[in-house]
Amino acid sequence: MKILVIGGGGREHALVWKIAQSPLVTQIFCAPGNPGTAQLATNLPIKVEEIDKLLGFAKSEGIDLAVVGPELPLSLGIVDLFREYGVKIFGPSRAAARIEASKAFSKDLMHKYNIPTAAYGVFTEIPAAEAFIRKTGAPIVVKADGLAAGKGVIIAQTEAEAIEAVQDMLSGNAFGDAGSRVVVEEFLTGEEASFLAITDGKFVIPLASAQDHKAIFDGDLGPNTGGMGAYSPAPVVTPAVHQKAMEQVVQRAVDGMAAEGCAYQGIVYAGLMVKDGEVKTLEFNARFGDPECQPLLMRMKSDLVPLLLAVAEGDLSKHSIEWHDQAAICVVMAAEGYPGDYPKGDAITGIEAAEQLADVTVFHAGTVEKDGQILTAGGRVLGVTALGNTVAAAIERAYQGVAKISWRGVQFRRDIGKKALGRI
Ligand code: AMP
Repeated sequence: MKILVIGGGGREHALVWKIAQSPLVTQIFCAPGNPGTAQLATNLPIKVEEIDKLLGFAKSEGIDLAVVGPELPLSLGIVDLFREYGVKIFGPSRAAARIEASKAFSKDLMHKYNIPTAAYGVFTEIPAAEAFIRKTGAPIVVKADGLAAGKGVIIAQTEAEAIEAVQDMLSGNAFGDAGSRVVVEEFLTGEEASFLAITDGKFVIPLASAQDHKAIFDGDLGPNTGGMGAYSPAPVVTPAVHQKAMEQVVQRAVDGMAAEGCAYQGIVYAGLMVKDGEVKTLEFNARFGDPECQPLLMRMKSDLVPLLLAVAEGDLSKHSIEWHDQAAICVVMAAEGYPGDYPKGDAITGIEAAEQLADVTVFHAGTVEKDGQILTAGGRVLGVTALGNTVAAAIERAYQGVAKISWRGVQFRRDIGKKALGRI
């Protein structure tokens, strides 16, 4: 099979890495890819939002299956377009991707289908939002309705801060169109977990549990990022929590989407808050999380390609997924200043030395190759991912890999996976 992977981050490098291990696959293309995917696939100079060009390439090259990594092309309708032209593609339709692309849609779905979540209101006018904030009190959470690259969520410590966030969003100053509607919701406490499942619109197979680390600094301090590291399995997802997440969250969402006339096919990612064994849904994403994808795929024993193909063809019911017992963690190495402004073009050393360590894979995210040298080119630059017989062993391996790699101003968290250790 000829496979086209769409995206160019750490998640897509992990997808290409896993797909390359399938005996079904003869050739992989990645658009736009990165220097990591270039080792296993042919990179294409097509951006993820250029969905017509991607279709043109898929048709002329005779692509057997396209796999979409990021949310943007999903929200632009890439899946609908490919289907219209009979090209098999893994991911939800534009209507189904609203589960992520519109927080108001997602919250209304949760409310309608009895999926546990925080109390909320959806607003387009400041006075009504202000009244809700005054009634609920702080801390309180303000979210831009549309896609905002993980930055559209403000945890306000005071009512005044929340009102200011609402004003910023509704006036269009923050997040443009994505902020023209806001969700204001109750602040939840507990421990977060990522619960991912793969579905054909009806039949659901859960993936292994995972937890990511969104804050930039150790101890979950500082501003949120796209994710500074992740590990799998996540002990907070006990068998009882797993069952609740499947029954009360994922299955209800999948059934609800089907009932709404937009059957959901692809990866459904539920961001959960777990407290005292109860589960509440923070958000849904319409794709693999990045960096959760990296440790999850390292732990996946089954061939990924038949699963992706079955979803694209609409029947997953004859499949199951096997996992390695080992734990995996991914430590993200980021550029100085991220998640704010950061420099680009710094020379990276030590990637090969890190990859020589047993069970360590370095997934590229924001890198570029110039004259045979790998340079930084993004905020999140690399994801050093390792397997180990225990979480502790995986942590040790990954940080051994991290220690081999350096560039000017590199930053990373030193506590990835520590939460899991506290429980074992
Ligand atoms: P979201 O994109 O909706 O998942 O929000 C991003 C992050 O903001 C989450 O991973 C949580 O850390 C935090 N967050 C979102 N909603 C809430 C909430 N209702 N209560 C507490 N924290 C939240």
